[in-house]
Amino acid sequence: MRDREFIPCDACGSADAMYLIKLVEGELAFCGHHYNKNKAGLDKVSYEVIELDKKEPALPTLETAE
Ligand SMILES: [Zn+2]
Repeated sequence: MRDREFIPCDACGSADAMYLIKLVEGELAFCGHHYNKNKAGLDKVSYEVIELDKKEPALPTLETAE
């Protein structure tokens, strides 16, 4: 089940992006394949990499007090 919208990879445009790379001048989205392919270069220009589909146990649902 998807909990987010489809984000196309900026390199191939067809694969679902798995990583969001935060740059000083914007951001890029890459699928796993292209992230790994460009990782060396991205490490130099990015200040944060967000893994979109991290496989982790779901966080406990916080009840919103309103
Ligand atoms: Zn790609």
